[in-house]
Amino acid sequence: MRATKAIVRRSALTHNLERARALAPTGRVMAVIKANAYGHGAIEVARTLAPEVDAFAVAMLEEAIELRKAGVESPVLILEGVEGDHDLHEALARNCWLMMHRESSVKRLCETRLDTKATVWLKYDTGMHRLGMDRAATVKAVESLAGQPQVQGAPVLCTHLACADDQESRTTPGQVSAARELAKKHRLPLSAANSAGVLFWPDSHADWNRPGYMLFGNCPSGHPDPSSVGLQPAMRLVSEIMALRHLRPGESVGYGQRWTARRPTLIGTIPIGYGDGYPRHAPDGTPVFIRGARAPLAGVVTMDMITIDLTDVGGVEVGEPVELWGENVSVNEVAKYAGTIGYELLAGLTRRVPLKYVD
Ligand SMILES: *Cc1c(COP(=O)(O)O)cnc(C)c1O
Repeated sequence: MRATKAIVRRSALTHNLERARALAPTGRVMAVIKANAYGHGAIEVARTLAPEVDAFAVAMLEEAIELRKAGVESPVLILEGVEGDHDLHEALARNCWLMMHRESSVKRLCETRLDTKATVWLKYDTGMHRLGMDRAATVKAVESLAGQPQVQGAPVLCTHLACADDQESRTTPGQVSAARELAKKHRLPLSAANSAGVLFWPDSHADWNRPGYMLFGNCPSGHPDPSSVGLQPAMRLVSEIMALRHLRPGESVGYGQRWTARRPTLIGTIPIGYGDGYPRHAPDGTPVFIRGARAPLAGVVTMDMITIDLTDVGGVEVGEPVELWGENVSVNEVAKYAGTIGYELLAGLTRRVPLKYVD
């Protein structure tokens, strides 16, 4: 068996969930597990967190169906909503909650005869300008949903924060107050906070909070140390040294000879590459963790392998375990080297990397 795998610690997931609850104790928790639970395996993450959460959220119907087929029974909100009668009926038959982000979807719902009552969230666009309705359209939607027999209770008013990861953001307070004002006026339950809202913006805490990234133990601000906000990384991406070689000064490594030895050098090869989701843009110097120390990437990331400079790490042998990201090198740190965010690295893990669950 290939040594490369992602080890997911269930107790870290529950720890982070408890952390989200403790930060925003009065609201209910909707755990966002879209994109295969940010690469951690949606089914296993849902099974682990189901007893602790009030609901889950995924981006699309297909992700919700995957959970239902695996026996997950908690409420699941479909963040992007559904298109067309077929998907609407399918979503309701599968007991999913619906995000309505366009007037036309609200109209369709009101005009469709349903056997089950729909639980509806309304997306109010307060500044993200990706999905959602402006204030007037949201008010119209609230009014047309009121008293509809096929709608379960009052809709939840939902908005998404554009800049909450920036603790100095001037946009966030305006978004929050706009959403609060409308929720209060129409006596609707409110949901505004994502992970960054939960962590950094107490005013954004409301009836429902929607943490995603933080549940996997990483700081949404990009901070390299999750313990600074009381989180534990849930994933360790690990592998092993598969080959070692000595280079003389002047000899180079890999495609295009990007990295050249300036001294007698020990190079270790690790069987992970961009075909697994390790970022191809990682530059020389990107750290991996081995034998209690950090060693720098040397040479380009290839599809199946990377090479690292082990000269300063004593006593390395073939088979030595390596952490690519996890408890010792955070995914945010690797992302920073590679010019991206940890979210992309986690969501970009490919199915070639088996997920193993511990605890
Ligand atoms: C992805 C998403 C979230 C969770 O965001 P995190 O930054 O991962 O906490 C919450 N709400 C919506 C609408 C989302 O799309």
